[in-house]
Amino acid sequence: MTETAPLPAQNKMAPDASDLCTQCGLCCDGTIYPKARAFPDDLTGLAEHGLTVLGQGEDEKLAFALPCPRLKGTCCTIYQERFTVCRRFRCALLQRLDGGEIDVTAALATVAKARALVAAAEPEARTVARRFEQRRSTSDWRDIADPELREAAGRRNLLITALEHHLNKHFRHQRHDTPKK
Ligand code: SF4
Ligand code: SF4
Repeated sequence: MTETAPLPAQNKMAPDASDLCTQCGLCCDGTIYPKARAFPDDLTGLAEHGLTVLGQGEDEKLAFALPCPRLKGTCCTIYQERFTVCRRFRCALLQRLDGGEIDVTAALATVAKARALVAAAEPEARTVARRFEQRRSTSDWRDIADPELREAAGRRNLLITALEHHLNKHFRHQRHDTPKK
């Protein structure tokens, strides 16, 4: 497990940021991160809302598992009670919107491209956890004897690579082997 992504400062927020996030949800549904950082103050709420708490061992940081069961479609159903990281986290795309580098139309196009890449590689690309699992199990796909199976495995790997590149380039703050929010 590597470092967690930083929690960016909220000193400047774009007025249409919620338009982007309510049509995205990629940081909640497991597409970008397999888990999100949690804090001791969140534990009661996490239990009340039925989330799976991770990392309660001595050397592990507290976290909760994604996809989050409180996401419906692309919207948070417990918005007023959402957790610390949910209030503070702003992905790289949202920060670019905050900074005026892109407008909401361009940001939504980037979200749509991520969704299209996930759809193209389904079901293996549904969550980042599945993708890491899939990559591990098909890392030797070039050795598959059956040409059709080899081609299918190769195509899937290419799609997953393209998706990871897109997520790294536009959403994540830094690269992780097993990233989290
Ligand atoms: S991934 Fe970024 S744009 Fe999408 S919901 Fe999360 S913070 Fe908002
Ligand atoms: S509580 Fe809401 S904002 Fe937080 S991870 Fe779940 S759906 Fe997303």
